[in-house]
Amino acid sequence: MAEHADLKRNRGNTILVFGAHPDDIEIGMAGTICRLTACGNEVYSCIASVPDKRESRIKEARDAAMILGIKDVIVLPIKAAQLGYNRISIGAIDSVIKQFQPKSVFTHWVEDSHQDHVNVTRCIIAATRKNHFNVYMYEQTIPGGITPAGFRAQYLVDVSKYIDRKMASIHAHASQLPRNGPRWSEGVRGRAMYRGYQINVEYGEAFEIIKINGDTNLFNGETEVGEVAPEYADAGESAEELVSVSFQF
Ligand SMILES: [Zn+2]
Repeated sequence: MAEHADLKRNRGNTILVFGAHPDDIEIGMAGTICRLTACGNEVYSCIASVPDKRESRIKEARDAAMILGIKDVIVLPIKAAQLGYNRISIGAIDSVIKQFQPKSVFTHWVEDSHQDHVNVTRCIIAATRKNHFNVYMYEQTIPGGITPAGFRAQYLVDVSKYIDRKMASIHAHASQLPRNGPRWSEGVRGRAMYRGYQINVEYGEAFEIIKINGDTNLFNGETEVGEVAPEYADAGESAEELVSVSFQF
């Protein structure tokens, strides 16, 4: 019921989420996508390239999209070898942005360790030359990837309410589970727990910002989503006790 009311209130907020490959966006920001869709944004995902098993991997991406409330999955006609910081890729991304006129775009972290991920973001930065959308970058896709740069968690989103849907959307990519091993998705969950800990909730997702064009109201004014994690519930009281103890000296 609440979700329906929110849909009416926030109609027309189009958000495009880019991933180089079919399972990238779920790892990076599935919980945030759930929140975005729950408060009435129209979220579309765009996969730049499908490296193998094209039909089954697109089907997995569509199954994951259903779990998250994504309106449609766009698959760009870019072959794996063509995906780069080049005119073919920039042209394809330009045309999607022109068609959807998004208010906000989410993409890979530009310092990600995978060249395809980096190239998608560089193409999006090129596409901003004639558009006015906000650009956010989700965290590195492979939790264990090593890069010389450090991700700056500038914007953290409470996704505690949506962690189960995030994990289900990752598991929808069934072909990737044996390939990446059982610790893969648990690594993603662990990172969400770490990001949640940084904002005193159970689970979170983090973003770096390239630009915000004045409007930061991604969640339609809603701020209260998750519960404060139990270990923080009496933190205030403990702090007071500590202060009073220290005043006794
Ligand atoms: Zn990828």
